[in-house]
Formats: sequence, structure tokens, C-alpha cells
Amino acid sequence: MKKILLLHTGGTIGMMPSQNDQKGLQPGQLGNHIFDLVPEISELAEVKIEILDDIDSSNVTPKHWEKWLARFKSLYNKFDGFVITHGTDSMVYSSSAFSFALGQTEKPIVFTGSQRPLTHIRTDARDNLINAIEISCRGPKEVSICFGNRLLRANRAIKLSASDYVAFESFNFPHLAKIGLEIEGVAEKQAKGGKPMWHSDFKEGVFCFKIFPGLSADIIRSALQSKACEGIVLEAYGSGNVPSLEPTVLNIIEDAEALKKPVIIVSQCPHGRVDLDLYECGIKAKKAGAISGGDMTREASIVKLMHGLGLGLIGKKLANYFLEDISGERSF
Ligand code: ASP
Repeated sequence: MKKILLLHTGGTIGMMPSQNDQKGLQPGQLGNHIFDLVPEISELAEVKIEILDDIDSSNVTPKHWEKWLARFKSLYNKFDGFVITHGTDSMVYSSSAFSFALGQTEKPIVFTGSQRPLTHIRTDARDNLINAIEISCRGPKEVSICFGNRLLRANRAIKLSASDYVAFESFNFPHLAKIGLEIEGVAEKQAKGGKPMWHSDFKEGVFCFKIFPGLSADIIRSALQSKACEGIVLEAYGSGNVPSLEPTVLNIIEDAEALKKPVIIVSQCPHGRVDLDLYECGIKAKKAGAISGGDMTREASIVKLMHGLGLGLIGKKLANYFLEDISGERSF
């Protein structure tokens, strides 16, 4: 039997109603109940559980990633695969952080969670947990998200629904597997795998903003000039277009370049990719110093920028790091 470590970080999956009904769902000791509630998991693997944290994932910060990764690293050699239970709200950020910190891995690392707590009737937690444990025994050697009968590459996924049991999607990359009667697709999509890099530092000084008609240059400029801001992810229109008739945004990109603060351009569209050579509006942004996020998600771009800055990269080195495919996060 494979040895699997289940690391719990929190989220709805382990939540219980508070004593006082007004307070809503609160974190609640999943580890104490999991073998009683889902005894099947011990038929699939020899599972050990450790509680890393028990928080709503809205409270997760890069400090949590660094702490979890340090513990994960110390346990990595002792197990064949890993399941990380996490809230759905920031799951794509944390799982992307793991993918960048490791770069590659020789073992399946599967994030999962649920829309309804494990203790509730009609919960999706049981199926997600059982599927995640099974995938962690024989799934792709990479960081993935197993949720709602889908297996997705973590750094390609976005949270799509706050209510549907199929809560995640990856628009720019095929699903790693479809989970039905059989688990289909896992074998042919196996990542090559390799020894992790363990670069687990993340800088928090990243600011993300979206372009819209009438965006105030003053607000953005004051954020850019703040010492706390070390880099920007800019959500542009379509294939990476920013307004060019009125120079506000282009000036901001030039100012950022002068301050040696990288500006990454991602698209507001969840499907498709940034191509800064396609329109004059993109060409001007590129000339001003913007770096293309290609077909990366906004979420993975934010985490990758935090990671690049955490590696101490600036200028051309940071741009090259960003344009490179580190962990399967970009194809263009
Ligand atoms: N707020 C919860 C969390 O992200 C939502 C969930 O788990 O579905 O921790």
C-alpha cells in the first residue's frame, strides 16, 4: 500500500457550525473525524494526517506558504504522495505557490477541499477526498487540484463558482484527468517529474489592478510609488491591450520601469492569451517595459511574481524568469 500524507490547512471541508449560529461556519478539527467519516480512505492507502493549520483560506498569506513548505519539505521523503486539504477561496494561490517553490516533483501533490463541510448532508467533501487520495497514489507527478470530478494542473486553475460542486476550471490547459467510473487521462498526461528545487520564499509587495474605462492614474501612481509596492500585475483588455490614445497607463508602465518595479500584463479574459505584438496598444505597452503573462492565469501570475521577487530577481533576470515556463504554468 502507498504511504500518503494528508496535510490539512483549513477551509470549508473541515468546518463545523459555530455554537452561536450567528457566526457561520468556522474551522473545526477535521483531523479528529476524518477516519470515522470517510473510513474508505484506509482501503486506498496507508494515510497519515497532520494539521498544519485550521483556517479559512481567505486568511492565507505567503507567510503560511513558507511555513507549510518548510514542514512539507521535512516530510517529503517519507511518503509516496500527498493530499493537501485547503479552502476553495485561495486554493489556486496556495497550490500555485507550491508548484513554483518546487518547480518539479517526483510525487503527486493533490490539493482538494469542498463546497460543503464533511459533516454536512449532501457534502462533496467525501468524494473529493476519496478521489484526491486515489490520485495521490498514482496521479501525475505535479501539483494538481482534484475537485468536482476534475483533476486540473494547479497553476492553470481558477475558482469559477462559489456554489457549484464543480468549482474550478482551467481554460488554457486541458484537464489532467476526468474522474468518472474510471479515472481517465492520468497516464498520458504524466509530467516528467524530478527533484524539487525548494525555493520557498515569497515577497508580498505585489499589487494587482484591472484596466477599465476611466481608471484613475492618480490612484495607481500612488500605489506604484509606495515603498511597499515591488511589482505590479496589470489586468489588461483582451490580448493584453492598454489604452494608448490617452497615455495614462503607458506612463505608469514607464514610471514603473524607471523605478525597477516589474509590470506583468495578464488578460481580463479567462480564456486566450496575452500577445503584446498583436495591436498597437500592446506594442506600446511592451516598449514601455511591460512583461507578457502569456496564457498564465492572473492568480498564478501574482504568485509567480511574488516568487521571482522572493528569489531576489530584478530587471532583465526577473523578466526572463517570468517568461520562462517554470512549472507548466505557461505555454506561450
Ligand atoms: N471560505 C472557505 C475557505 O476558502 C470557502 C471554502 O473552503 O470553500 O476557506
